[in-house]
Amino acid sequence: MELRKSEAKAIQRGLKDLGIYADEIDGDLGGNSLTAANAYLLANDARLPSGYSAWPNKRKFVACIQMLSADAGFDPGVIDGWLGTDTRNASTLYIRTLDGLEIINVFESDPIDVNPNNWPSDKASDLNAFYGTPRKNNNCSAIEPRIVKVDSPWRMPLDWNMAQSRSFFKVHEIVAPSLERILAAIEASYSESEVNQLGLNRFSGDYVCRKITGGTRMSTHAYGIAIDFYGSKNELKRTTHDTPPPTLAHADCQAFWEAFENEGWYSLGRAQNYDWMHVQAAKGRASRFYSH
Ligand SMILES: [Zn+2]
Repeated sequence: MELRKSEAKAIQRGLKDLGIYADEIDGDLGGNSLTAANAYLLANDARLPSGYSAWPNKRKFVACIQMLSADAGFDPGVIDGWLGTDTRNASTLYIRTLDGLEIINVFESDPIDVNPNNWPSDKASDLNAFYGTPRKNNNCSAIEPRIVKVDSPWRMPLDWNMAQSRSFFKVHEIVAPSLERILAAIEASYSESEVNQLGLNRFSGDYVCRKITGGTRMSTHAYGIAIDFYGSKNELKRTTHDTPPPTLAHADCQAFWEAFENEGWYSLGRAQNYDWMHVQAAKGRASRFYSH
């Protein structure tokens, strides 16, 4: 993965806060940024593998965001200068703190981490073995015939066009019975007006043959095992102080998430405080069922 502009700015801001960078916060990692990064790495060389000084600039900058986010209390994985999922998640949370945004964990309890349906890890090899293999170049012909409809108990307005609605989910046949049980549990926990009020029926996506956002792997959506709810108020990236917290991180939504978690589904919001619209029938890295 490539460093995002927001990550480049976060490096500059972090180094500026430490008093070793004095230029502009423009996300343009030029000579002054590199000088500051080198000074920062040298001051922290005990945390780095030997030979780090010969790394290419990009890898040095990645090591900077890894250490800055680790020092802010997040887990970027090993400090190695490689930008993987752990680092991306940690940097996302770090940027949130730089922006003065609350780190949301409003629930009374941690996510329920059980796996009654033996969902696989969300790595491509595990997903392919369990659900079938979407081909490269956005060809999902191995998955598409296995996509079935599961009726929704509610009319689901399309979050991006409220004048239209759906009455079903499109998911992989393997997860359909589980989703039916989940919807019944949600229906038992919330009245229809609560569903409307909390936006639990706001449909933002299910099966679609596509790659992950900003990456080359196929998305869990391409396997028909992921659903997005209320994306307009629970977007992946929030950029200003004024952006309100994700609505699905509200305590009133706990029973909604637990309906999924009891079936082994994995909420990126609940488990990683990251992408509050998205839930999937595959375990992410914060689960004890994730195979490393
Ligand atoms: Zn999603």
